[in-house]
Amino acid sequence: MEKITSLAKRRGFIYPGSEIYGGFAGFWDYGPLGIELKNNIKREWWKSMVYGREDVVGLDAAIIMNPKVWEASGHVEAFTDPLVECKKCHHRFRADKVEDGKCPDCGGSLTEPKKFNLLTEVYVGTTEEGKKKTYLRGEITQGVFVNFRNVVDSTRVKVPFGIAQIGKAFRNEITAGNLTFRSREFEQMELEYFVEPNEKEAEKTFEFWKDTRMNWYVSLGMSKENLRFRDHEEKEKAHYARKATDIEYKAPFGWSEFEGIHHRGDYDLSNHNLSYKDEEAGKEYTPWVIETSGGIDRSALFFLLDAYQEDKDRVILKLDPRLAPFKVAVFPLLANKEDLVREAKRVYDLLRGKFYVAWDARGNIGKRYFAQDEIGTPWCVTVDFQTLDDETVTVRDRDTAKQDRVPIDKLSDYFQNKLGV
Ligand code: ATP
Repeated sequence: MEKITSLAKRRGFIYPGSEIYGGFAGFWDYGPLGIELKNNIKREWWKSMVYGREDVVGLDAAIIMNPKVWEASGHVEAFTDPLVECKKCHHRFRADKVEDGKCPDCGGSLTEPKKFNLLTEVYVGTTEEGKKKTYLRGEITQGVFVNFRNVVDSTRVKVPFGIAQIGKAFRNEITAGNLTFRSREFEQMELEYFVEPNEKEAEKTFEFWKDTRMNWYVSLGMSKENLRFRDHEEKEKAHYARKATDIEYKAPFGWSEFEGIHHRGDYDLSNHNLSYKDEEAGKEYTPWVIETSGGIDRSALFFLLDAYQEDKDRVILKLDPRLAPFKVAVFPLLANKEDLVREAKRVYDLLRGKFYVAWDARGNIGKRYFAQDEIGTPWCVTVDFQTLDDETVTVRDRDTAKQDRVPIDKLSDYFQNKLGV
């Protein structure tokens, strides 16, 4: 974790939030490379969950909603973590995370657990009297449910179908920590999939999405041996869940959830008084919901951890090329030879519109390779003296260190083929 935390900061993936004012616990800023990694994760998710399917449509609901939504959804009442407080230093901890009944900070004795609501309060309105209390959304899910009727009425979806959404959520977490793992502001990528209310259908759909989601992480390069499912026990299930399984990653701080597959039954649609009319079959019912709820920040962190490798003094981030911030880096062999630099700039400009491309002309070529390996750039293109004669360049592969000689006019196709786009 120390190595990833330092690399993330040094190379512009993740910075502590509000750092020049001493930071702000639980909030993080993504730097120039971090935003690329996150965008790439989101793009791949959207491609597989929306564009790849006939039965899923997208949505982007507001972060702030009428407080009645949160009352109806049960979050005001039940979105709580049981907390214990140290009688000596008054620090609070999640009851389920304290192992020996002693304060993890000072060893003092602890109070009995008390419930603490995770919703972040916010006040909307300009005048004191007109101000209305509501909440920043604690999960992005409710925006989908409150728009269920809108989506059914304005599109051609028919049960079974899904609504996908990506967006920020906020929780007043007690113990933020492990870099972005437990943040107070984070991003979720979720699918709510609506099925007929019948146990067989729900079970089949649950199993389908469990496998689909696990395979998605593996297809993007996460090692199978670092992944597992963990079924929730009865007592740990969220207030809406009939059944829940987590996808967990073997993090340096232990097996940790980063996506949940939940069978929410008709809990939410019923609470919002929503139902579905099947015109063809002439029946009306409240669909059941199977949800896949992933965290983008936790996924990004685990993709980074999984990709991190050391080879003597060289660090390589073996990110899947689709996730890597830069796809290609372009260098002139020597920075002080004008014709090499000019030709390399031409290659850089040629590729720039199609891929996110890095430029580096500092230090020697070995150092530039190392610097790109460390941020996961899959291919480096070097313009050398031979380029000036025959218009070919060397393409060096991050993982094999093998070099190909490729004509400049074939470079775009070469990378497009490699990326499968
Ligand atoms: P935990 O038990 O770790 O608090 P949870 O079971 O409350 O997580 P869910 O409500 O199922 O989490 O949320 C779905 C996903 O949203 C999680 O798997 C995770 O990836 C992400 N997520 C939830 N809380 C946070 C957080 N505080 N920081 C970052 N990501 C989060």
